[in-house]
Amino acid sequence: MKRLEAINGFWSYRAKFEPKVKIRLPYEIFLKMLSYAQASKGEISGFCKNKVIKTENEIKVDVVDIKIFTQEVTDSRTTLTTDEMTAHYLDLIRRDENPEEWNLWWHSHSDGTVFFSHIDVPTIEQVGKNKALFSICINTRGEMTARYDRKGKFVAEAAIIIDYPLNANIVAACKKEVAEKVTYIRPVFTRIIPTVDTNDLPANYLHPTRRHYPADITD
Ligand SMILES: [Zn+2]
Repeated sequence: MKRLEAINGFWSYRAKFEPKVKIRLPYEIFLKMLSYAQASKGEISGFCKNKVIKTENEIKVDVVDIKIFTQEVTDSRTTLTTDEMTAHYLDLIRRDENPEEWNLWWHSHSDGTVFFSHIDVPTIEQVGKNKALFSICINTRGEMTARYDRKGKFVAEAAIIIDYPLNANIVAACKKEVAEKVTYIRPVFTRIIPTVDTNDLPANYLHPTRRHYPADITD
């Protein structure tokens, strides 16, 4: 019983930090986004088309298409002008697209670090003021970060999962080698992880997800 509670404690601890918004980026679309970022002398931005699946605990965003629009860029400008936005929406309508499905705004930070700056946030507020909006910031090294906003207000960080194409031969060879060399040791949980600063823990405290306490098991 004690162990079960500990395991439940562990999982609720995990759940608390598990991203609730997951953006699945097919490999080809990731490569295209990266290539756009690398091809631009300054920053660059565009939109992605998505299929959004909402369940009780998470929002899954399946990216299915990517595009850029005519734009002027500098080394740091990511704001979109009204003209650019209008042209973008007219283009979508002309192509018989549903603008609501193009609800992921992405932009590059050229070769800088990825984050949502004080310039990006007003853009997100403006672009997403009446709807749900997912945003990705990428750089020329392919680093990315993402967030989810609703009606212009920040809701949550989003995880990006790149759907890499795996090579069946490499997968089989690695599986064989891991089976030969790697032994999995089942974790033993003996206590609920306390919600305290780890610096306050006694020096002999052992993190339950990393260490074994066979001697601690009382049930
Ligand atoms: Zn930015």
